Amino acid sequence: MFGWLKRRRRGALRHRPFPQAWEDIIERNVPQWRSLDPDEQEQMKGHIHVFLAEKTFQGCGGLAITDEIRLTIAAQACLLLLHREGDYFPRMTSILVYPSHYATPVRQRAAGGFVIETEQTRLGESWYRGPVVLSWDGVLHGASDVGDGRNVVLHEFAHQLDSADGAVDGAPDLGPRERYADWARVLGEEYQDLVERMHAHRGSIIRGYGATSPAEFFAVVTEVFFEKPRHLKRKHPELYEQFKAFYKQDPAARMLNAEC
Ligand SMILES: [Zn+2]
Repeated sequence: MFGWLKRRRRGALRHRPFPQAWEDIIERNVPQWRSLDPDEQEQMKGHIHVFLAEKTFQGCGGLAITDEIRLTIAAQACLLLLHREGDYFPRMTSILVYPSHYATPVRQRAAGGFVIETEQTRLGESWYRGPVVLSWDGVLHGASDVGDGRNVVLHEFAHQLDSADGAVDGAPDLGPRERYADWARVLGEEYQDLVERMHAHRGSIIRGYGATSPAEFFAVVTEVFFEKPRHLKRKHPELYEQFKAFYKQDPAARMLNAEC
């Protein structure tokens, strides 16, 4: 679609009235909603309208897509877009939702040229230039428990942000070139630290899955940044600042204000 036409269409979508029933669903299922100020909630409502208009949801494994499913996923995905001049996950147009954990075949090449086929149980996955796949019970659980630092929607959509510049490498589009050196230094050191901690069986607020690759590190830290921001800021201040600059949000301060 032409740029100006898309902007005009999105502008009109953002100004549509937001049904109270939709807001009730988000308030119930997405605890972060309550920590947003009224301006941020208005901005989110606009983003959610655009997201719902541009993305298609498909139920899998017998799941019927409802407003609750669409809004719970859209609200969390759009939290990553708040305050940022970005597009709406442009490489992804569809979201597939399973009722619960789903199994996916995995092929691994073993020594001697054999191919071993196994099945992996997943909560979600994000395909490069493809769909996001989620399990509805994983979405609900990840959203409702903000204290566990885990959130499958934030995780999979962080991968979409990461891939928007053409590479899934843990470095999303940061804007000015000078930002990349600091990002690479801080995330490189923190990633290495997590890898060493996991080898030494030492704990971290950042779960071990983040040590599997820089791309997973970015997605896992995104979950912690939004779910346990004060903890992340205290334990990893430089990392927190990098994420704060990228997401243009300060969820640690927001949570503090929400508690007042
Ligand atoms: Zn991942």
